[in-house]
Amino acid sequence: MDTEITKTDQEWRNELTSGQYHVLRERGTERAFTGEYWDCHDDGRYRCAACGGELFASDAKFESGTGWPSFTEPAVAEAVTLHRDRTFLTVRTEVRCRRCGSHLGHVFDDGPRPTGQRYCINSCALDLDRPRHRDPAERDGPRS
Ligand code: FE
Repeated sequence: MDTEITKTDQEWRNELTSGQYHVLRERGTERAFTGEYWDCHDDGRYRCAACGGELFASDAKFESGTGWPSFTEPAVAEAVTLHRDRTFLTVRTEVRCRRCGSHLGHVFDDGPRPTGQRYCINSCALDLDRPRHRDPAERDGPRS
């Protein structure tokens, strides 16, 4: 894989949990409703659990009912790459982290407006970077 970050299989095994390794490096899927973020409503930036690259913003997260964190779009289009996935006798579009090539999940065309897309991502492929400090008085106020 031609990616910015390349590590040996052993390095990935050392750095990731076995569950993360299975999803990120073996293109596995975590069980629905078991991950850390499917029901998470916190603000922040979702980063790649393998390389730390920014992938999705909490603003783009929506309730899909699937048991996996779901987003209408990546933080920036260049954050991910899309690949045709023909496993399981269907054709799906696989989503990978552009920086490190790790498998994140799949994208489907049945998402809400405005994009109509549903990026269905494994929780364990993500790391939520919550804002460090925030004034509670500004919680629901306008953002500058
Ligand atoms: Fe990555």
